[in-house]
Amino acid sequence: MGLSMLDSADRAKKILRILRENFHIPNMSELCSDPFKTLIRTIISQSTAEANTRRAFENLSANMSITPESLAEADTRDIENAIRVAGLYRNKSIIIKRVSAMILEKFNGKLDFIYSLPTDEARKILLSLPGVGPKTADIILLFCAKKTVLPIDTHVSRVSRRLGLVPKEKVNYEDIRAELERLYDPRDYFAVHMLLIALGRTFCRAIGPRCRSCPVNNLCPSAEKHA
Ligand code: SF4
Repeated sequence: MGLSMLDSADRAKKILRILRENFHIPNMSELCSDPFKTLIRTIISQSTAEANTRRAFENLSANMSITPESLAEADTRDIENAIRVAGLYRNKSIIIKRVSAMILEKFNGKLDFIYSLPTDEARKILLSLPGVGPKTADIILLFCAKKTVLPIDTHVSRVSRRLGLVPKEKVNYEDIRAELERLYDPRDYFAVHMLLIALGRTFCRAIGPRCRSCPVNNLCPSAEKHA
């Protein structure tokens, strides 16, 4: 059946099935042992490749406890030195210190109270914190609080538009999230998030996508253009 004969829901389902066959999905519980740690790791990951995010987070953990108490008291230069491999490390160090102080002051150093709140309310609280944008909030809501949201990172945004799951002209975070959340079953949001990232890292790279060997090339309207 040609691409044009498949409706978008069918195509979305087929793409997800093929991606499941080609990539490993990590266990969600391994991605969040503590919402504060996930928050700090996600702040570090902004505009930074995964390998450097991991190194920066490991350096920071080796040098100080990843708790609001410890990071609120830390010298910004010590945080900077620990996360230097990450992009925008100076700015991120200031944000890490500020967000830690705020969580300590407003929420007694705990973030897990948001788990029992309705999603919109929990999201609003997270978005009120320094350095927390929609992606960071949604990652905490999905990975830690197990809420049904689909976080959009740079890979998910690029790949879903190339695949035609989201119209190309939609570039706004909330528009992309709404389109993908409409297309997929909420039980699949975590898988969709992880698998589109995996596809974006390995085949559908920002520059020089490897369309010829891409496992979903026969379902992708952009395959010829990039081939
Ligand atoms: S065929 Fe090319 S453009 Fe389409 S998803 Fe695969 S790598 Fe990306």
